[in-house]
This record gives sequence, structure tokens and C-alpha cells, in this order.
Amino acid sequence: MTETPTKKCKQIQPTILVHGGAWTIPHSLSKPYVNGVQEAVKKGYEVLCRNESAVDAVEEAVRYLENDPTFNAGTGSALNIEGDVEMDAIIMEGKNLQSGAVTCVQNIKNPVSLARLVMEKTDHTLLAAQGANQFAAEQGIEQVNTDELVCEKSLEMLREKKKYSVTVGDQFRQGKCHDTVGAVAVDASGNVACATSTGGITGKRVGRVGDSPLIGCGAYCDNNFGAVSSTGHGESISRVTLCRTIIAHMEQGLSPQDAAEKALSYMTTKVQGSGGVIVVSNQGDIGMSFTTIRMAWASMQDGRVCYGLDPGQKIEAKKC
Ligand code: ASP
Repeated sequence: MTETPTKKCKQIQPTILVHGGAWTIPHSLSKPYVNGVQEAVKKGYEVLCRNESAVDAVEEAVRYLENDPTFNAGTGSALNIEGDVEMDAIIMEGKNLQSGAVTCVQNIKNPVSLARLVMEKTDHTLLAAQGANQFAAEQGIEQVNTDELVCEKSLEMLREKKKYSVTVGDQFRQGKCHDTVGAVAVDASGNVACATSTGGITGKRVGRVGDSPLIGCGAYCDNNFGAVSSTGHGESISRVTLCRTIIAHMEQGLSPQDAAEKALSYMTTKVQGSGGVIVVSNQGDIGMSFTTIRMAWASMQDGRVCYGLDPGQKIEAKKC
């Protein structure tokens, strides 16, 4: 790990990718999913076009997805077994490997912004539960009543989980989970960043911490290589440190796409876990892969938006 990409001559194309979760997205939800990820990627790209940083861009894109109740993050978060919201989020920058995260937070409208404050205003990398909420109050970050974060679809998913009493792992194997959001970006200076935010898994135990707020699991980035954000069965992702593993494959010379596929394939064979990832290299090359039935994703580079939902699908959106 030596040179930073800012010293390279090649002009970097500002690039951003987002995902809206990897699971069996039903056809009835296809439209809100693909619309949501496209809008989010445009929001993040606008930030890059204003010459703001990759960190600003991923925060903006993830905030958009947290505010859209279609997705399992912020408003619309999945509920734990007691019917409460407990959210996790992480943000990281690739220049100095600074990272901030929160876990099991309640009443926070945009957990990704709280994670950013942990990164920038504390000596820590992860704040949990009550302590994180206390820090949020000190920072004056927007807090809301939990009711405002709970949507009918999350209540319905919890009712269904209780009715069939499936385990969290089985929910994933049956593709019933409803996932996490994330973003990765590289800015014109070659700085990379990533962010991930989630309500976790429906019916999880109170206090369960998934992969999303854990460095190397829910997200990882390094200016020397690129940035990754993940979604999927958190316990599996954590066991294989999915995002750091992808960066390690890139360090060995694999493309973002090959690195993503190799790491997900390892997760399948080693721990029988499913999920998905988005990846951007420090040169703006992109990769995305998933082992679930579907994953909503969108990318934006050179003013063009591409998106997909099904395996192998890549659609270029019409310019408005
Ligand atoms: N990875 C998240 C978790 O396990 C949930 C997801 O992406 O579906 O909490």
C-alpha cells in the first residue's frame, strides 16, 4: 500500500453506484425499487459534479434512500422481534481510512449522517444504542418519533415472520428479507468513499448487530484500490468480512467485477450465505454482483445512469 491515486496522471471520471438491497424483490415493487435507486444515484452524482467529495456524495445518496420508505433503512426500516426499529449505518473514506458507524439506534431520521459525525467528531469508530442517541442529541441531529420510521410493509413482514416462525437465516434462504441500502463513489481527485445503512433483518433479536456497521463487513474502502458496500445475510457477510475481502482481491489485480463475484462465491460455498455488493475502483471501474434472486442497483458516470434488478441486467436510462 504505497501510492495514492491522486498522484496518478489519468483523469478520474467521478463515478457513483448505489444499491437498494439484495433479496427476492417482488414484481409489484420493481418500479419503486428501480426508481428509488436511480433518483439516489443522481443525487449523489450532483454532489460529485459540484466538486464536492466522494464522502459527501455517498452520504447524500444514502440519505435519499433512507428517506424513501420503499427501502429498509431510516424510514421504512425492518422491525425487530419486539416491533421496534433498531438501525445500523456506516460511512468510510479511503484517503486516511477514517470511518464512523452507529448500531441499534432509534429515533434517528438519517443514521448515515450520524455515522459521519462519529467519524468526524469523535475519537471512535462505532457508537451503540443509547450512547449513539445521546451523541445525536449533543450534535443536534434530527430525531423523530419511532412511529415516523415505521411503515405498514415492515409491520406486515414482522407479522408474517411471527406467523411462520422462520429463523432469520431461513428468511434469507427463502429470499424473504428486505434489505439495506448503500453507495460507493470516487471523486475527481481519486478519493473513494462508501456508506451503508439498514434497519437490519425482520424479527431479529433485540440488540442484534449485523454486518452493516462493521468495518470490512458492511462497507470498506481504500484510495489505493476502491470502495465496496454490501447487502445480504449479515451473519454470513461478517464471517467472511465480505467488503475487505473484495478489496484484497482487487489488491491482487482482480477487476471490481471479478473480485465481487469471487468473494460472493466464497461466501456461498464457505458459509452458505447470500447477498450482494457494489464496487468502484479508484479509477472509476465498476462492479456489482449478487447471489440473491434480485438486487436493485444504479450507477452514474459521465452523465449517464445505468441500472438493473435481475442477474446480468444492465439498462441505460434515457436522458431526461
Ligand atoms: N445486511 C443487513 C443485516 O444483516 C441486512 C441486509 O442487507 O439485508 O443487517
